[in-house]
Amino acid sequence: MVKCDMDFERQHIWHPYASMQHPAPVYPVESASGVRLRLEDGREVIDGMASWWCAIHGYNVPELNAAATTQLSKMSHVMFGGLTHQPAIDLAQLLLSIVPNQLQHIFFSDSGSVSVEVALKMACQYWQAQGDTHKHKFLALNHAYHGDTLGAMSVCDPVLGMHHIFADVLPQHYFSEVNIEALETQMKAHHHELAALIIEPIVQGAGGMRFYSADLLQQMRELCHRYDVLLIVDEIATGFGRTGTLFACEHAHIQPDIMCVGKALTGGYMTLAATLCTRKVCEGIHADGSGVLMHGPTFMANPLACAVALASLRLLLDSPWKNRIQRIEHQLQDALLPCREHPDVADVRVLGAMGVIEMNDAIDVAAIQKKLMNQGVWLRPFGKLMYTMPPFVMNEQDVNQLTAAMVNCLSS
Ligand SMILES: *Cc1c(COP(=O)(O)O)cnc(C)c1O
Repeated sequence: MVKCDMDFERQHIWHPYASMQHPAPVYPVESASGVRLRLEDGREVIDGMASWWCAIHGYNVPELNAAATTQLSKMSHVMFGGLTHQPAIDLAQLLLSIVPNQLQHIFFSDSGSVSVEVALKMACQYWQAQGDTHKHKFLALNHAYHGDTLGAMSVCDPVLGMHHIFADVLPQHYFSEVNIEALETQMKAHHHELAALIIEPIVQGAGGMRFYSADLLQQMRELCHRYDVLLIVDEIATGFGRTGTLFACEHAHIQPDIMCVGKALTGGYMTLAATLCTRKVCEGIHADGSGVLMHGPTFMANPLACAVALASLRLLLDSPWKNRIQRIEHQLQDALLPCREHPDVADVRVLGAMGVIEMNDAIDVAAIQKKLMNQGVWLRPFGKLMYTMPPFVMNEQDVNQLTAAMVNCLSS
């Protein structure tokens, strides 16, 4: 078998948030099935990351393989400008039937960041079309993460979002502490210029794996109503069951004006995202009679991705996903919560199929990964956080191996 040319790889290929000059170690993966990655050196490791929230059914899933193969024999792609196809229509129908019911319209795009860009544009165009030209700023939360493109970055946490590196490039928006008093202060001061409040519901992911209450989410919704500001809910990480409900919004029974989904949408098979909005937002965008939504990605509603997403959603909905996530949640609680007693640990948090150990100090990622790999587990810690969001299909024994490896890393 031909091995990866790692010299070439190190010299020419960038990895996420990485240096080309001092590249961190990367492990060649030869194949994957179930919840395991098979490395080129023959080792098999349990994937505790679900490929960054995505691979909720694990890898090499027969139902998803079949959907891809069937669609491939019809057409892999066709432009969406002036053309349409059944996979997009079927997927839209199913999605709209499971999201909060006031969401009625859907815009497909090719990545989470782009779906956030579209959401921001929807909100801006909504106010513009009604002659309210002052409302083009956004309010976002400290520790927020909404993606890596410039518009999405401008509503990420000002420190984490690299605002100082790109100070002259990024539009300036408003930020708030994650509590209702601070949010109300910002709303009161700036609502005349605010198009929307953008939030990750219940779980702030890449900005620090922080959780907040359903109560606060409900209060955010009320605040937006009271100050006539749209609410954009970024469910890219939380969508499709991760927090224990199908969408994190459901914890607070709220109706967002605009919602973004991505990541697990295709079960991790390929890249696809969507921005959904209410009839009110849609009608608002067209209020001046001439409005068109100014976005149209080349690979919009890619049929192959839509077909796999449809199969992935059906597989999820037909599975005992709630029980599986609850069982994983209990296992993560039992195994990880006792780590709170460890002197190097600042906090341990578990919600749904997410387990987080926050250390007092920054983690030596390469060293910890090596230890984890030796115990047959793949994780990618960042900052002070060692965390897992496993595929929902991971069995009890594999979850035990995963959590045991995390706990072992603390003691040695
Ligand atoms: C990952 C993520 C994004 C960006 O999605 P990409 O597909 O990486 O562009 C946006 N928002 C949240 C909450 C995410 O977790």
